[in-house]
Amino acid sequence: MIPEEAKRNKLFDQANEDRKWCWGCGQSKYLSRAHIIRISAREDLKYDISNMSYLCLSIDKKGCHDIWDENSWTILEEFEEIWNLKCFTEFMNIIKVKDSKLYREKIRIMHNWLDYYRTNELPFGYKLK
Ligand SMILES: [Zn+2]
Repeated sequence: MIPEEAKRNKLFDQANEDRKWCWGCGQSKYLSRAHIIRISAREDLKYDISNMSYLCLSIDKKGCHDIWDENSWTILEEFEEIWNLKCFTEFMNIIKVKDSKLYREKIRIMHNWLDYYRTNELPFGYKLK
């Protein structure tokens, strides 16, 4: 492991010492360190402890790490998996503080889904699965 990665892992573990379980589902198996706002989008938040969480890996079932990172917000079935993560509100609050542009984008998508639930009209570019 490169020293920089070890340093980051140590920070992660220190920051979340008392929450060593998956924040998405509560299980304590197959944990991985997960940035809430991905580093590819916000390199500057790499060492920000408020951007660090634990999410489970995809072993036995689809893991919360993949749900948060890989799922599409514009596909209903996948959006609902994101929405159902226990940490959803907490993550959104962190995004609100750290990246208001990203937050507005996610809120816009949520509004579109709320409109869909009300009208049953699928927004342009959105899918059910
Ligand atoms: Zn999980």
